[in-house]
Amino acid sequence: MRWASLRNILFFSVSSFCLQCPRCMQCDSKFDFIRRKHHCRRCGRCFCNKCCSNKVALPRMCFVDPVRQCAECSLLSQKEAEFYDKQLRVLLAGGTFGVTLGTTEKSETMTCRLSTNHRYLFLDGESHFEVELSRISSMQILADGTSPGESDVHTYTSLLDSHGEGGTSRASGMILHYKPMGSQDGQQLRLEATEDKKAASLWLAAMHKAAKLLYESRDQ
Ligand SMILES: [Zn+2]
Ligand SMILES: [Zn+2]
Repeated sequence: MRWASLRNILFFSVSSFCLQCPRCMQCDSKFDFIRRKHHCRRCGRCFCNKCCSNKVALPRMCFVDPVRQCAECSLLSQKEAEFYDKQLRVLLAGGTFGVTLGTTEKSETMTCRLSTNHRYLFLDGESHFEVELSRISSMQILADGTSPGESDVHTYTSLLDSHGEGGTSRASGMILHYKPMGSQDGQQLRLEATEDKKAASLWLAAMHKAAKLLYESRDQ
C-alpha cells in the first residue's frame, strides 16, 4: 500500500536519525535493556517510554492513526488535529467581505477563502487576486466597536500571547500586510464584514487560529 510504505520510509528516517543517543532527552534517564529508547514521530528526538507515551494523529506527516509523540509535540499535534477538523473547513468555505486594497477608499465585495492547497488566500468578486500566506508579514484582527490603532496590531508574535479564542468581542475585520510576488514594497489589504457578519466573524476567528498555528510550527 502506498500510504503504508510512505509511513515506513518516514519512520525509518526518523529512527536512523539518532543511534548514539544514550539518555532520555526529557528526564535524562539512561537507556538499557529494560528502559528502551523511543522516538517521537514528530521531532525524531529520543525519549524513554514514560516521556514519549502520548499517541496523537499527525496528519501532516501522513500518520492518520495516532502515533507516539513527546509531550511538547503531542500538544502541538492535538491543536493541529483540532484545527484540521474545524477551522480548515471554515477557511476553505470562505466568507464575504468588503475588500480594500492599499490606501484607496474604494471597497469591493469579495469572497475570501483559503485555496485547496492551503497556500493562498483567494479573493473573488468582479476581479480576482490572491495572497500567498508565506508572504504575509502581519495580521491585525479588528473587533466590533474598535477602530484600528497601534494598540490592536496583532503580529504573529502578539497572536501567540493573546488569550482565549479571539476574546469576548466579535471579529469584524482584518488588516493584512504582505509582499506581493516580485515586489519589495509591502501592500495592505483590508477586509471588513459587511453582509453575513456572523459567517464572516467565524471565518476571521479561524484565520486568527491558523496564524497562531503557522507561527508555532515555524518556530519549531
Ligand atoms: Zn524520560
Ligand atoms: Zn517530539
